[in-house]
Amino acid sequence: MSLFTAVEMAPRDPILGLNEQFAADTNPNKVNLGVGVYFDDNGKLPLLQCVQAAEKAMMEKPAARGYLPIDGIVAYDNAVKGLVFGTDSEPVTSGRVATVQAIGGTGGLKIGADFLKKVSPNAKVLISDPSWENHRALFTNAGFTVDTYAYYDAAKRGVNFDGMLASLNAAAPGTIVVLHACCHNPTGYDITPAQWDQVIAAVKAKGLTPFLDMAYQGFGNGIQEDGAVIGKFVAAGLTFFVSTSFSKSFSLYGERVGALSVLCENKEEAGRVLSQLKIAIRTNYSNPPIHGGAVVAAVLNNPELRALWEKELGEMRVRIKAMRQKLVDGLKAAGVQQDMGFITSQIGMFSYSGLSKDQMVRLRNEFGVYGTDTGRMCVAALNSKNIDYVCQSIAKVV
Ligand code: PMP
Repeated sequence: MSLFTAVEMAPRDPILGLNEQFAADTNPNKVNLGVGVYFDDNGKLPLLQCVQAAEKAMMEKPAARGYLPIDGIVAYDNAVKGLVFGTDSEPVTSGRVATVQAIGGTGGLKIGADFLKKVSPNAKVLISDPSWENHRALFTNAGFTVDTYAYYDAAKRGVNFDGMLASLNAAAPGTIVVLHACCHNPTGYDITPAQWDQVIAAVKAKGLTPFLDMAYQGFGNGIQEDGAVIGKFVAAGLTFFVSTSFSKSFSLYGERVGALSVLCENKEEAGRVLSQLKIAIRTNYSNPPIHGGAVVAAVLNNPELRALWEKELGEMRVRIKAMRQKLVDGLKAAGVQQDMGFITSQIGMFSYSGLSKDQMVRLRNEFGVYGTDTGRMCVAALNSKNIDYVCQSIAKVV
C-alpha cells in the first residue's frame, strides 16, 4: 500500500499517442499528419537561417546565465508588443500594454488564466467548439468552468457564424471568451474581417473578456494581415488578453518561446496588472529561460535578421498554401468524386478534412497515413514526395 496505490492512469495525450504509434509503424510509406508541426519539402523540421545567424552572433560573445527578470528579457517583451500591437501604435506608445515573456503560447495562456482567476474568480470560460484541446484543460486546471461557443459547421464546411454570435450574445457579462486570432486549430476555418467586427460588437455589448490566442501569426495571410484583428479590438476600445507563440513562426518548438500581453485602460493600470502577472510567474516557475527569448529578440530587433525572418516565414506560408492546392488537385486526380475545394478556403497549418473516425482509422492502419480521429490533418507536413501517396490513400477510404 503506497500513497499512490489509488492513482489512476491518466489517458494518453491523443496527439502524442499518435506519434508513438507512428514511430512504431513499419510501413515505409508512412506519413505523419497528426502533430501540428511545420516540415519543409524534404520532410525536415527547419532550423531557420535567421535563428542560426542570431545564435552564431550569440556564440561569438558568450554570455553568463544569470536569472532573467520575472517578466523576461526587456528587449523581447518590447519586440512582442511591437509585433502584436504595432511599434508606433497608441497602446504601445502610451504604455498601457503589460507584456511578459512566457514558456510558449501555452505558458502565456496559463499565466493569463491564473491572473484572471484572481480578478474574475466566478467568470465562466468559453472556448470554440471544437478548439485546441489544451484550452479546456488549461482553464479547467486554473479553476474555471469551461463551456463552448458554436463554431464549426460540418455540413456547411465552414463556420456556424450565426451560432457563434448567438453563443456570445447569450453569455453572462464578464465571461472570458478564448478566440483564435488566426489559423483556427483544429478546423482551419477563420471568420472574415466583417464577422470579426460583429464578434467585437457582441463582446463589447455583453461586457465579455476577450482572450486572443495568437499561435500562428504569419501563417495565415501575413504577419500584418494576421495581426489586423488585434487592431480591431483596440479600435473598439476594449481591454483584452493576447497570448503569443513563436513555436511555429520561428520553428523554435522546443525552446518554449511565447508571451502574454494584457491591454489595459492606461499606463498606471498596466503597471498594476504587470505586478500581478509577475506574481503568477513567480509562483509557477520563478522566471523564464533565456535562450529562445534572446534569439527571438535578436531577430526581431535587428532589421536584417527581421527581414530574413519575414522572408522565411513567408516561404513556409506559401508552401502550405501550395500543398493545399496540390491536395485538392491530387484528390481529384486520384478519383475522389466529392469537391474537396474547401481545403483551399481553410487557412494555417490544419485542415478539417471531413473524414470520419472510421476513415481516419483505416488511413492509419491500412496506409500509414496519420491524422487525428476528428479528421484533422496537418497540411504543413505534406510535401512533394508524400502528397501523391496521401491523395491515393485518401481516395481509397472515401
Ligand atoms: N494555442 C494553439 C491554438 C495552438 O495550436 C498551440 C500549439 N499547438 C498553442 C496555443 C501552444 O503553443 P506553444 O507550443 O507555443 O505552447
